[in-house]
Amino acid sequence: MEAANYDILVIGGGNAAMAAAISAARLGVQRILVLEAAPPHLRGGNSRHTRNFRCMHTTPLETMPETYPEEEYWEDLLRVTGGQTNEQLARMAIRKSEGTYEWMKAQGVRFQPALGGTLQLSRTAAFYLGGGKALLNAYYRTAQKLGIEVKYEAVVTEVDIKDGRFNGATYTYKGDTHKVSSRSVVFAAGGFESNFEWLEKEWGPPAKNFLCRGTKYNMGACLRMLLDKGAKAIGDPTQGHMVAIDARAPKWDGGISTRVDAVSFGIVVNKNGQRFYDEGEDFWPKRYAIWGRLVAGQPDQIGFVIVDNKSVGRFMPPVFPPIGAKSLEELAGKLELDPAALRSTVDEFNKAVKPGTFDITVLDDCHTEGLKVNKTHWARTIEEPPFYSYPVRPGVTFTYLGVTVNDKSQIIMNDGKPATNMVAAGEIMAGNVLGKGYLAGIGMTIGAVFGRIAGEEAARQVKN
Ligand SMILES: Cc1cc2nc3c(=O)[nH]c(=O)nc-3n(C[C@H](O)[C@H](O)[C@H](O)COP(=O)(O)OP(=O)(O)OC[C@H]3O[C@@H](n4cnc5c(N)ncnc54)[C@H](O)[C@@H]3O)c2cc1C
Repeated sequence: MEAANYDILVIGGGNAAMAAAISAARLGVQRILVLEAAPPHLRGGNSRHTRNFRCMHTTPLETMPETYPEEEYWEDLLRVTGGQTNEQLARMAIRKSEGTYEWMKAQGVRFQPALGGTLQLSRTAAFYLGGGKALLNAYYRTAQKLGIEVKYEAVVTEVDIKDGRFNGATYTYKGDTHKVSSRSVVFAAGGFESNFEWLEKEWGPPAKNFLCRGTKYNMGACLRMLLDKGAKAIGDPTQGHMVAIDARAPKWDGGISTRVDAVSFGIVVNKNGQRFYDEGEDFWPKRYAIWGRLVAGQPDQIGFVIVDNKSVGRFMPPVFPPIGAKSLEELAGKLELDPAALRSTVDEFNKAVKPGTFDITVLDDCHTEGLKVNKTHWARTIEEPPFYSYPVRPGVTFTYLGVTVNDKSQIIMNDGKPATNMVAAGEIMAGNVLGKGYLAGIGMTIGAVFGRIAGEEAARQVKN
């Protein structure tokens, strides 16, 4: 079969891929092909679900007040990763995030003032008007104007790589197999968060009960092939971003509206009706990303957030209504929990609550004393009917295992040398910056910054 020939092949159709394709086209490269596994209405991977990117700014921007300087951004990153980050690459991403705001605008993206809600990010994150879908629509419109060819439902299944050089790829399209070759390739095909078999290999049987918050197309096939063909791995395969989401969410693509933000207002019990972690440890934006893992550690990977009537309307509700009941016993029945166990946990909790001044905007003095697991802030008795519950399960956002890159986004091979004509951007290399933990909005920063660099490097390779 004759392979179609291009200057640059871009694998993936999200933020990183489109930033790369557009950047290369703007440098004059003409024959660029984007292969996107998803159909048009589901294009754009996890980027489709996003709302913002974390943006350094040394002066106020039109939609972002005050400033967010490099050092503060860096300190924030250092805190969440515990130092597991490549400082050179991380600082480069931080510095270049400043220009990314204007760059996105030049591609047709529009911004809006930060949305309110439980995660307050107005100074640190730039919110796109219309969310990730609008951002992608702008990218795809620009790509079309620049003559970039996009093939949907095109799943890359094989890559021909020898001695750090890419020769071509095989992809399937509606049951047929096609071959394509190019002078340079951009890998921007995400992590392996959609692939439950792979997740189970890393996390064990509990992974069966995980949900994937985003696209079902990030199966990790390109990542697997790159690692098998000599790309140097980076990141721990068991690390990723995992939040507690409504257990009724679909297996994939539930998106942002399935996140449960009620934890700080009540208690969380496991299927035995027992509490297992301090629900009031810190402000929710600093803690929401640990609850996926906490629930993953519980029997059958399920938890139940329990609040009473006085908390209703105080937090952003998920898309599913809470399960309500007039008594705790009735609620336990609806949740299939042992009523006596739930009653005893709540009674014990209520007795341990010390009176204080409840204020969700500060680390208040409402706490419990004398429990095995105390609640250190926002502890109020759970006694005012009706009682409500949100069942929660671990929702994987994205995984951190990736390929090592340098400051030109070139993939580093196991011999330590950069690949001749292969670059990577986005989730597939995010582990270079995120060894563990997560900083809200940095996923899209990594995608856009390294996407642009990858596109520029691919263009340079084509011209040489
Ligand atoms: C619900 C949710 C909300 C989020 N909110 C935010 C936010 O507000 N801000 C933020 O910074 N981050 C957020 N994130 C994280 C963010 O989505 C990712 O960090 C970012 O989208 C990664 O971009 P990417 O281009 O690398 O990957 P993706 O956008 O996931 O794109 C990967 C692409 O590769 C394609 N693909 C995969 N395999 C193949 C193959 N074999 N052949 C061809 N194509 C393939 C996929 O179809 C997809 O188009 C959120 C994630 C989720 C799930």
